Amino acid sequence: MNNTAYIGLGSNIGDRERYLRQAVAMLAQHQHVTVTKVSSIYETDPVGYEDQDQFLNMAVEVNTSLSPFELLELTQNIEAELGRTREVRWGPRTADLDILLYNRENIETEQLIVPHPRMYERLFVLTPLKEICPQADNITISAETKQEGVRVWKQKSGVDEFVHSES
Ligand code: ATP
Ligand code: MG
Ligand code: MG
Repeated sequence: MNNTAYIGLGSNIGDRERYLRQAVAMLAQHQHVTVTKVSSIYETDPVGYEDQDQFLNMAVEVNTSLSPFELLELTQNIEAELGRTREVRWGPRTADLDILLYNRENIETEQLIVPHPRMYERLFVLTPLKEICPQADNITISAETKQEGVRVWKQKSGVDEFVHSES
């Protein structure tokens, strides 16, 4: 379990909070993953493809013995299990789990790019990430990024409360 990774989560279909909680619980259930921190949940205006409902977004820190590619496989399995389909790029989804950081590694493959290449221009990613990730403190949000459209929706709690409370 000696790797630290940060995962950004988003949902904008159906019971958004329930999808986020289920996704975090499914990460936590994996034998080789421990969820060590959870951010607040934010409600955010859609970016990229704007004609869709508002998102809930959050970030989690995990300790894991999985490789970055194994972690990607897990996050994609969780998306599939939660009914994620891909019709429109950046379109509506039950659950999106993106690997933001994996230790301090730089990975550039067809399947996986880490740090997540679009996170630096996304307030909806950086705001929850900065809450739980000391190394994100010195990331500055690019000047062209809209500095609004991200509001705290539910305050940060402990991991156990987060995974186990139903509302
Ligand atoms: P965005 O990546 O801009 O947030 P998205 O999350 O909606 O868009 P997806 O449909 O979830 O995009 O993913 C498209 C592909 O991105 C996946 O098939 C995956 O292989 C690839 N990918 C590359 N880097 C990452 C990463 N760091 N985390 C998750 N997926 C990644
Ligand atoms: Mg995404
Ligand atoms: Mg994704």
